[in-house]
Amino acid sequence: MEMIVGGKRVKKEKTLKVCNPYNGEIVDEVPQGEFPDVDKAISLADEGRKIMKELPIYKRSDILYNTGVLLEKNEKSLTEILVKEVGKTKKEAKGEVLRTAKLFKYASEEAKRVHGETLPFSSLEGSENKIGYYTLEPIGIVGAITPFNVPLSLAAHKVAPAIAAGNAVVIKPATQTPLNTIILGELLLEAGMPEKAISVLTGRGSIVGNALVKDPRIRFLSFTGSVETGENISRNAGMKKLGLELGSNSALIVADSANIDKAVKSTVSGGFSLAGQVCISVQRVFVHEKVYDEFVSKLIQKVKEINIGDPMDDRTTMGPVIDEQNAIRIVEWFKEAESKGAEILTGGSRNYTLVEPTILTNVPLESNLMKNELFGPGIAIRKIKNIEEAIILTNNSVYGLQAGIFTQNVNEAFKVAKSIEAGGIMINEGPRYRADFMPYGGYKKSGLGREGIRFAMEEMSEMKVVCFDIEE
Ligand code: NAP
Repeated sequence: MEMIVGGKRVKKEKTLKVCNPYNGEIVDEVPQGEFPDVDKAISLADEGRKIMKELPIYKRSDILYNTGVLLEKNEKSLTEILVKEVGKTKKEAKGEVLRTAKLFKYASEEAKRVHGETLPFSSLEGSENKIGYYTLEPIGIVGAITPFNVPLSLAAHKVAPAIAAGNAVVIKPATQTPLNTIILGELLLEAGMPEKAISVLTGRGSIVGNALVKDPRIRFLSFTGSVETGENISRNAGMKKLGLELGSNSALIVADSANIDKAVKSTVSGGFSLAGQVCISVQRVFVHEKVYDEFVSKLIQKVKEINIGDPMDDRTTMGPVIDEQNAIRIVEWFKEAESKGAEILTGGSRNYTLVEPTILTNVPLESNLMKNELFGPGIAIRKIKNIEEAIILTNNSVYGLQAGIFTQNVNEAFKVAKSIEAGGIMINEGPRYRADFMPYGGYKKSGLGREGIRFAMEEMSEMKVVCFDIEE
């Protein structure tokens, strides 16, 4: 595939291979972008941002709506490419495409609600003769850098609000999964996006990504990825607004009054969808001692029903992880926890990139599985005596993206909602729940700022005050 620079397809002699995580087969090749490509894309975007600013809101809205329709029309081919480049199952891939289409349609509505407010100048003594308002203006050029795991939807979380707020966008997808983002760029152009206002640059994060991060013409840099890269970006970004959506090791609490069947279902889907490679995957589960045995035995039963294999096969319910290096690391973390006293109740091994869905109990607090982000199909369980203990354990993390609790006790639910340091608390739902319109982002090392269409649009806007003196 070719990359897109200011709306034009660009080939390069040097390419990067995109491989199928399931079998290592080459799926496609993309250009290996370099610094001059970034510079050119940003120069064109600098013209593109002026075109976008002048574009009436109904036209921005139309582009977004049309993109949603085109995503639906191309659902089959997008699904197939997602399966091949990410290794997610057909069902997961189709879900991502259709969700992304909805996200664009939602953004087309939200675009119509960009507005400011009148300001009460006469509330300030000495300003009685002033009248005015503030308005939101596009920030200019939005730079977007995305991770490998949910490439279409996470690109949409940046591109759609950027367009809704009237900006030009330069996006750099992950090197392992760039194909869907390139197609998204093509669909945006087909939907009417001004050429100069959209670029999709492929190439290494350390070169293309870093050049985007450092360029002062980019006014808002929106990044989703690991904490390590996020910290690197914040050191290099200079004076620009930053949005950082980073990792987590999300916790789920199962109280003694919990609906156990519902909690088990949510733990399985939260822990093993996309082979656990979701930033809000269920990784740590704290279960009340009164319901511990019931919960664990029902969980094991459900986990054994997961069918791992070729993601192209309709019978497969969990595919591979992104590459062998990660598969090796994930299994090493299981072994490390085991060597420190944990018990592996099911799973624990791998075949190339297929890692067995794994449940561990008595996982020590000093193990990687409790402290860091696994980003793989493993769940660490600990028995708790009460909710207070679960709150302490949940907060005992450098991360704070989302958390969940299953309980029938309203006081317990409120206590958890108030005490846990995370951007989202789900009650009788797992931490992996996300609606694309809600404010989404993390406390602590899980990030900076919030996504969710309206909230991202605010971050991608400048506020301007207009004040009239009306004294004659
Ligand atoms: P990653 O290694 O941090 O890469 C993310 C993106 O950053 C890629 O496009 C990468 O390009 C680029 N990059 C790498 N080095 C860079 C640099 N020096 N400057 C600028 N850009 C650079 O993350 P990943 O492994 O793809 O994704 C997994 C991580 O994403 C997990 O930690 C997960 O929790 C997080 N995540 C968070 C959310 C959220 O919403 N909070 C959602 C999904 C995923 P290359 O691919 O070319 O290296």
